[in-house]
Amino acid sequence: MAILTVFMTLCLIALSSSGRFCPTKWSKVGSKCFKFFNYELSWMEAEKTCLDNDANLASVHSNKEGTFISYLIESCSPATDEVWIGGYTVSRELWLWSDGSKMIYKQWAKGEPNNAKGNENCIIMHTNGRHDWNDDPCTRKVSFICAKNSDPKLFNGKPIY
Ligand code: BGC
Ligand code: CA
Repeated sequence: MAILTVFMTLCLIALSSSGRFCPTKWSKVGSKCFKFFNYELSWMEAEKTCLDNDANLASVHSNKEGTFISYLIESCSPATDEVWIGGYTVSRELWLWSDGSKMIYKQWAKGEPNNAKGNENCIIMHTNGRHDWNDDPCTRKVSFICAKNSDPKLFNGKPIY
């Protein structure tokens, strides 16, 4: 029995250090872990909260990730119809992800990004059956979704020596 417990413990340690698991309350898709924060902050405050959780606002790289995030939020909070994700711009010529990954996949809603109020430099994602994006003022207070890699060795921007 004791040997079995030791074996199972070692096995669990091996699995978790190989990045197969997400922390409690984080949901895994592919190599990434996502968590919905069901309270409203500005984009900057939301990013800071993600950083405090060793994460960033979520970058979205595929239809699959967008759909998953939308379902996750709908199941936690059906009333939520938009959330901050990690997209932002400084120059309007280039959209960036706060986790440092390259924005190749884009899912703008029809007519977006329109910089409607002249200062729409952060990206919200519509949810509730949608997962398309709108540029909006970064100071708006919206709930948000953080993401991190399930394997900390893959942490974006963090060098491994
Ligand atoms: C938002 C804009 C958006 C527009 C779409 C406005 O209320 O502030 O960001 O582009 O709605 O109709
Ligand atoms: Ca807009």
